[in-house]
Amino acid sequence: MAKILIVEDNALNIKLFCDLLAAHGHQPEAVTDSRNALDKAREFKPELVITDIQLPHVSGLELIRMMRKDDRLADVPIMAVTAYSAQGDEERIRAAGAQAYVSKPISVVKFVQAVEELLAPSAAEDPTGQSQQGWANEADDGPGPGETGGDES
Ligand code: MN
Repeated sequence: MAKILIVEDNALNIKLFCDLLAAHGHQPEAVTDSRNALDKAREFKPELVITDIQLPHVSGLELIRMMRKDDRLADVPIMAVTAYSAQGDEERIRAAGAQAYVSKPISVVKFVQAVEELLAPSAAEDPTGQSQQGWANEADDGPGPGETGGDES
């Protein structure tokens, strides 16, 4: 069981995420206004933050950057959820400091899997990062087996 902070402006998504996380034994808490997210995170001390990217006032990307600069929040894993997955989005989100990225509409299985991997110390400290790449690459049927990394051409 883990404390998980959700930053999301859409009420239906909040309900979905909270229900899913509670069903898996976690303790979710939601913030709808990203301007309150940092204060809430400092007070709630979550073990994981799940943030929408498309947020009014303070974007998810900006929020991730601010969390990474905050002494108390710098080490908290962040999972980004976004409705748009244009080329380069995932790189930008990961560069800002998020460890995982899930696109909407979310796959329940992938969402839960990503949460559990971020909460598991073995996955978080995996120097190869293979456990995270495992689920991240499931969606795109790009390079076939044994061809990973050859997609630049
Ligand atoms: Mn949104």
